Amino acid sequence: MLSLFRRFFRWVHAVDAAPSSVDETDVALRVLFENGAAGISEVDMATHRFVRVNRRFAEMMRRPASQLLTTGPADVIHPVDRERVRDEWLAAMSATGQFDTSVRHIGPSGETIWVRLGVSLWKRDENGAPMRCIAVCQDISENVAITEQLRESEQFLRLGQQIGKIGNFVRYLSTGRLTCSSELCEIFGLPAGNHDFSTETWLASIFAEDRERVIAAMQDAIGRHVPEIDFEYRINRLDGGGPRHIEMRARYEFDSEGRPVRSSGVVMDVTERKKVENRLRESETLLRLGMAAGGIGAYQRDFQKLGDIICGPETQAMLGVEPGDEPVPVAVWLATVLPEDAVRLTEEFQEGLASRRSDYSSHYCFRKSPDSPIRHVEIRAHTEYDAEGRPLTSTGVIIDVTRRIEAEQQLAHAARHDALTGLPNRVLFRERMDTALARARRGEQFALLCLDLDRFKEINDTLGHPVGDSLLVEVSARLRGQLRETDSLARLGGDEFAIIQSGLTTPNDSASFAQRLIDSISAPYEVDGHTLVVGVSVGIAVAPEDGEQYEDLFKAADMALYRAKAEGRGAWRWFEPEMNERMQTRRTLEVDLRRALERGEFELFYQPIVETATRRIKSFEALVRWRHPERGLIPPDAFIPLCEDIGLIVPLGAWVLGEACAEAARWPEPLGVAVNISPLQFTGRKLVETVDLALKRNGLAAHRLEVEITETTVLQNTDATLAILRDLKTLGVRIAMDDFGTGYSSLSSLQSFPFDKVKIDRSFTRGLDQSRQNDAIVTAMIHLCEALDICATAEGVETEAQLAFLRRRGCREAQGYLFSRPCPAGEVAGLISQLGVCAEWPQAAE
Ligand code: C2E
Ligand code: MG
Ligand code: MG
Repeated sequence: MLSLFRRFFRWVHAVDAAPSSVDETDVALRVLFENGAAGISEVDMATHRFVRVNRRFAEMMRRPASQLLTTGPADVIHPVDRERVRDEWLAAMSATGQFDTSVRHIGPSGETIWVRLGVSLWKRDENGAPMRCIAVCQDISENVAITEQLRESEQFLRLGQQIGKIGNFVRYLSTGRLTCSSELCEIFGLPAGNHDFSTETWLASIFAEDRERVIAAMQDAIGRHVPEIDFEYRINRLDGGGPRHIEMRARYEFDSEGRPVRSSGVVMDVTERKKVENRLRESETLLRLGMAAGGIGAYQRDFQKLGDIICGPETQAMLGVEPGDEPVPVAVWLATVLPEDAVRLTEEFQEGLASRRSDYSSHYCFRKSPDSPIRHVEIRAHTEYDAEGRPLTSTGVIIDVTRRIEAEQQLAHAARHDALTGLPNRVLFRERMDTALARARRGEQFALLCLDLDRFKEINDTLGHPVGDSLLVEVSARLRGQLRETDSLARLGGDEFAIIQSGLTTPNDSASFAQRLIDSISAPYEVDGHTLVVGVSVGIAVAPEDGEQYEDLFKAADMALYRAKAEGRGAWRWFEPEMNERMQTRRTLEVDLRRALERGEFELFYQPIVETATRRIKSFEALVRWRHPERGLIPPDAFIPLCEDIGLIVPLGAWVLGEACAEAARWPEPLGVAVNISPLQFTGRKLVETVDLALKRNGLAAHRLEVEITETTVLQNTDATLAILRDLKTLGVRIAMDDFGTGYSSLSSLQSFPFDKVKIDRSFTRGLDQSRQNDAIVTAMIHLCEALDICATAEGVETEAQLAFLRRRGCREAQGYLFSRPCPAGEVAGLISQLGVCAEWPQAAE
């Protein structure tokens, strides 16, 4: 090559020097210089100027040759390469004299011209210093651009693969060898730099449960000559880097005989996407579960499609529409809504849309089908509008709030109603009273009736609460039956009821109403196989006369009720202003009563109990009296209940026991004393101790003391009471059942304890010889006592006829005014000498 250059340049100079001496080769070289595809220039190393350039070089430099000859390489080489090329050039010239490089040149308008430059030194001066060089240039701009493009697109691809976690491979089916891109190696956790691995290694990385499927899919593709397949599988990275989800797409190539040659394709690491998909699926499942559990359904209305409603599965189930993708026409949905709500909802929707409201919430009631129960739903929606304000879609939820609404309604009802009878309670009654009082202030009279059942407590205690409850329900029903629409009834608690009787023309209206109530309540009831009779007392207050405020009116009615009860029950009373005074009196009485014991204002009267056969005294019943400093002697019925109310009965009862025993100890033997014991003295176990103390302190033999208890005592708390009774009996004290026949379970109370005595209530004695039934009952009671070896004592014997009857029937003892009224202790001695003492004392029940 160099020799050719030398020759070539020799020829060039020869042309200058002696053109006549050119041979054929020289002609060829000249043609080559003038018309060759390479740009050629000769550079003078002393001046660094072009001394000769050919046409191609001038073209390449985009300058005329004449202009180039006034310049040198430094003027056409791009400034960025200029220094480097000069250094390399000079260095090469002083060494090998050869040098080539790729170098940018600069065109006249500043454009870059990529050139492949080859430089050869061809002439030195006499000192050996470089003199002339030949530079051959090849325009490589196009190549450089293509290479650059290629590099860029490869980089782009690589980046895409890296970011997209996409790797590619080629698998040779005959050997099983796999050649992979570095991204694929990265995905599979293969060592970097090793781009070959085997089909076995690849298959081993696939999850066992996916592997069979992958192999089957590949075999199927090959078998059916399917050119392209894609599938998904999971792998365990070969470097132990955890499981990955892979999506793979492969293309098969077959030879002319249809044998598979190789497959090539891409794999994508879709782990992250799968995770997101799974999370999405999970959260959707969760959401669906939550929606189903919470009775929430989603829907969307598309206003572009007539406003039809696209319902989610929960909404379809809730509304009872067919499952599927079909939207529900608005008319179909509206048909399920209760008519009054349908009108309101339609108006609300229209209004919301007209005012371009985006958020909407409401509630309504609907039925899935005409015979389904009513459901309550809450609806919340968000509406999107276009730029012109036309509605596009409305997306929302429907929440089934039936249970909440029903619970709220139940709670609201329970808070204002009595659970047993379903009647309004005090709270609701108060509201109704307030309304009635407001009307009363405008002149509309009404009556407030307070009702209290007579002896209900006894029924409850004797027959048990279930019977008591059933009776209350029956009573409520009867009361309700007496009401007009404008009246209002409530149960205030226990056996207390109240009625607002409105539209009163005269106060007499309330009197006749009260009487009707009493009559209706007093008729017998059949409850759980028991025939029950219960009375009612009614107190009436009239508004506004008796009170304009709730409290005042209630107080007035209560006072009237108290009066009705005090005056014999089963009656009604109007409120009278002096009742207020009476109430005041009761309060004063209470205060006085608390002081009476310490002031020694109580005393005992004694009433003899005689043997019917001989009329001789067997014992005395001690009956307490209160000698009030101002009011004189007060009978027990007037203060015992009050004592029981205020807890004074226990100390009073103890005093009575002590006093009676002290008195009896002075009487001739075998006279005994009977003491009445209140049921309230049986609460706690102090009674036995009190009795024992009273006997011992006074030196009275236990068999001379008899305690009189009532049926209520036996039934109030059976086990504890019976234990006390047994203990008393162990002491030697005799036990008598007082007022027998007035309770509800007289016979069964006889069964519960071995009583020594039964006192037939004076209401039966009073009726003797007046009705056959009464006589039969008394006879039966006496026979029953005889059979049970219990002493029968008739109370309240006032006439000889009564005594004669009792004697005939074999009643052993009697007590009553016929023999003596209760008298002070001082008169006992006189009575004893007058009537005489019964000699024989029946066997003590030891
Ligand atoms: P009770 O135990 O049934 O006492 C008999 C009551 O009948 C006495 O009334 C007595 O005066 C009255 N009575 C007696 N014979 C006749 C009669 O022929 N005709 C009429 N109409 N009545 C007659 P009293 O003394 O007013 O006592 C009433 C009730 O007070 C007693 O009924 C008794 O349950 C209670 N009581 C009296 N003293 C005490 C006491 O110290 N403690 C307790 N817890 N209660 C007492
Ligand atoms: Mg008694
Ligand atoms: Mg009695």
